[in-house]
Amino acid sequence: MLEIRPNCEYCDKDLFPDATDACICTYECTFCRDCVNNILHNVCPNCGGGFSPRPIRPKIAHRDKTSLQYQPASNKRIHTKYSTDDIQKFCKPLINTPAKLR
Ligand SMILES: [Zn+2]
Ligand SMILES: [Zn+2]
Repeated sequence: MLEIRPNCEYCDKDLFPDATDACICTYECTFCRDCVNNILHNVCPNCGGGFSPRPIRPKIAHRDKTSLQYQPASNKRIHTKYSTDDIQKFCKPLINTPAKLR
């Protein structure tokens, strides 16, 4: 199940569960749209993969035992362990390669 993380790993912006500007990679690394577009250029600094918009989990249960009421969002803030410099160096060679070819 997707871990819905509370913040952008890079700039620490709050990303509430219903945020429409939250982006995730396949490992659930979570960043805001601004960072993905302007700093990471669609390269996850942790794995090198691309990003997709994070789906929004319903607030109320439309089916038994589903929704944020039963599987709440995480409140554990995550911060990237890499420096801005390191991220630039890591992402740069991958920026011009589409995610499906990396
Ligand atoms: Zn951000
Ligand atoms: Zn990743």
